[in-house]
Amino acid sequence: MRGLMQDRPLLISSFLTFAAVYHKDREIVTRTVEGPIHRYTYADCERRARKLANVLKGRLGVGFGDVVGTLAWNTYRHLELWYGISGQGMVCHTINPRLFPDQIAYIVNHAEDKVLFMDLTFVPLVEKLLPRLGNVKHFVIMTDRAHMPATSIPGALCYEEIVEEASDDFVWPEFDENTASSLCYTSGTTGNPKGVLYSHRSTALHSMVANNADALGMRSSDAVLPVVPMFHANAWSIPYGAPMAGAKIVMPGAAMDGASIYELLETEGVTMTAAVPTVWLMLLQHLEKEEDRKLSTLKRVVIGGSAAPRSMIETFETKYGVSVCHAWGMTEMSPLGTLGSLKAGMDKLPIEKRLDIQCKQGRAVFCVDMKITDDHGNELPRDGVAFGHLMVRGPWIAGAYLKGDGGNILDHNGYFDTGDVATLDPEGFMQITDRAKDVIKSGGEWISSIDLENAAVGHPSVAEAAVIGVFHPKWDERPLLIVVRKPGKEVTKDEMMAFLTGKIAKWWMPDDVVFVDDLPHTATGKLLKTRLRDDFKDYKFP
Ligand code: ADP
Repeated sequence: MRGLMQDRPLLISSFLTFAAVYHKDREIVTRTVEGPIHRYTYADCERRARKLANVLKGRLGVGFGDVVGTLAWNTYRHLELWYGISGQGMVCHTINPRLFPDQIAYIVNHAEDKVLFMDLTFVPLVEKLLPRLGNVKHFVIMTDRAHMPATSIPGALCYEEIVEEASDDFVWPEFDENTASSLCYTSGTTGNPKGVLYSHRSTALHSMVANNADALGMRSSDAVLPVVPMFHANAWSIPYGAPMAGAKIVMPGAAMDGASIYELLETEGVTMTAAVPTVWLMLLQHLEKEEDRKLSTLKRVVIGGSAAPRSMIETFETKYGVSVCHAWGMTEMSPLGTLGSLKAGMDKLPIEKRLDIQCKQGRAVFCVDMKITDDHGNELPRDGVAFGHLMVRGPWIAGAYLKGDGGNILDHNGYFDTGDVATLDPEGFMQITDRAKDVIKSGGEWISSIDLENAAVGHPSVAEAAVIGVFHPKWDERPLLIVVRKPGKEVTKDEMMAFLTGKIAKWWMPDDVVFVDDLPHTATGKLLKTRLRDDFKDYKFP
């Protein structure tokens, strides 16, 4: 027998229309790319998204299912685009501007973007790529008339002009919830980037679960600052979950340095924020510069994208009274898979024990099935010791890449191989040991590069550290520690080794330490290990 409940589709437009009715005066505040702070409300945002919807459908000739690209920072205009595009059944393709220009040209063509919206920052980039973007019909610069630059982009349109001129007479249409809503390419450290195509249903389910109390837990009383960019894995769903909750949104625009983020946190009364560890490294360094700098309203910070170092979690909590939630996910997972909220009683543990738990990447959220397997696909025990390939399954996890590029990506039980190696403990907490391709294979045993890096950055003179496996005649591979010192700080190889002693297993000790001025990063701020392995391929241990 079928249930007799109403079969209403889960659609992205409803997140914003809900906020426009029930939280209509709640603010969306943006540090604009042009400079000044802009503020308006959910009601204003929904009205402008309707105008934009008319622009896309009318003047720009975009049809249902067509793809529209954005090269943009976190701003109110980008938010209008997310809803104006997806809300009427078009596909919002957020492009990561930090990808190599060749990759950007590739994905704009692969996705078949009909229109490209860009912030002022990216006009020179698009000008350079122009000869290779033949399929794009219209280019729109996201600014007002006064700031329109002189540009070689033919017929470049001014965002504010076309939105202002448009009518707001638009009714959000209803359609199948499995319709594609948005598209994001993985950064692809090897090979071409691959397109992950989300649906309205996957996005709605993900956003609702991601906002559980034990997950992002946004409330109408929160002011939320997503530093994590809207062009990277849906900004961890904050621009979807915040209107559902009626939370104030604070958008940082292009300025993500410590001083700019700190100013917004304090002046806008931000209570919750989210970003990758490198952003928090910059913020903490900024805070350290003056004794009296406090985080007076911030309560929670979500850290993910790379492993959050123990010292970072501890500093936020003990020095600034801010609780840290460690999260893990990936573009293919919309992105959230696990979050590290403590279970009953864990908050009473002595801090060292509690930090052990918080350094793990967290527990699977509802709807995400998770297991670890050996090389033959056999499931490994959830004992916190065995580590293997991390496999996931769920309604917001990719079943295939756009146009089938990447082939069949699921095993016979429908699980997706994350490419991560991890442990699962009896309480359900998952800990990433490494990317499968970064793990160091020493004499048949695995060494976690992440654990070594995290131990190394605990040294007060170390700004950043990377560990890679380098060829060793006896052990196949041994760890090489590559360190960037903090400005003006000194530390030697012997001091580094002494610091690590006792913090890691003896046989994990790096065979050598080298010092560099900086480390290469991917477009999403992660250590670019492929480049490091290349740079050090002829390196010989002393
Ligand atoms: P990209 O690969 O495009 O940079 P993704 O967000 O898809 O972006 O990257 C996903 C990968 O990032 C994961 O598979 C994992 O290796 C890594 N990652 C994400 N969060 C964490 C975390 N908290 N700790 C360690 N690694 C993480």
